Amino acid sequence: MARYKDEQCRICRREGQKLFLKGSRCYTDKCSISRRNYAPGQNGQKKKKLSEYGTQLREKQKTKAYYGVSEKQFRKYFEMALTEKGITGEVLLQILESRLDNVVYRLGFGSSRAQSRMLITHGAFEVNGQKVDIPSYLVKAGDVISVREIRKDNGTIKANVEENIARPVPAWLEKDAEKLSGKVVRLAEREEIDLPVEEHLIVELYSK
Ligand code: SF4
Repeated sequence: MARYKDEQCRICRREGQKLFLKGSRCYTDKCSISRRNYAPGQNGQKKKKLSEYGTQLREKQKTKAYYGVSEKQFRKYFEMALTEKGITGEVLLQILESRLDNVVYRLGFGSSRAQSRMLITHGAFEVNGQKVDIPSYLVKAGDVISVREIRKDNGTIKANVEENIARPVPAWLEKDAEKLSGKVVRLAEREEIDLPVEEHLIVELYSK
């Protein structure tokens, strides 16, 4: 069980970066990256030189882990990005940012994307007044995301709102902590997405 609980931290250590997969713990000095910033396993402290393919693969794996999506979903988003105007890698990140679980996390109603997914599937949120229990739902500019009236007393959400009151909300979102709601002002721009990834390497990987 202990091994399972550390699984998310192992992902961060493998990537050598904080991916904020565990909620409030990620913001404390209990974060495994702060204590052991080397890859897990016996040879974790040895620096390995990655091939071009290996570097591209790591960027993709890191991005998948950050947003908590499967390979199949990730590929689907890449195919979507190819059909949109703009730089494919940036559009890919914009699509991932538009997932409802990410928006709930960014608004501070969930402590992590994983917890946000759980809250969404339990029917805690609505979009424009309609219940949405699909974490992969893609929001668009103008959408209003709110905690449903019957879930406003949910202890987890209340604790998250209190804990995240000082956590800044990205400029593409507007939050109303009192009403437990948020608005998508516009879609995220690349410089507003804090994932340290070279997304063009993902595009190169999938273009092989
Ligand atoms: Fe673990 Fe969070 Fe730190 Fe990643 S950022 S190592 S998930 S505590």
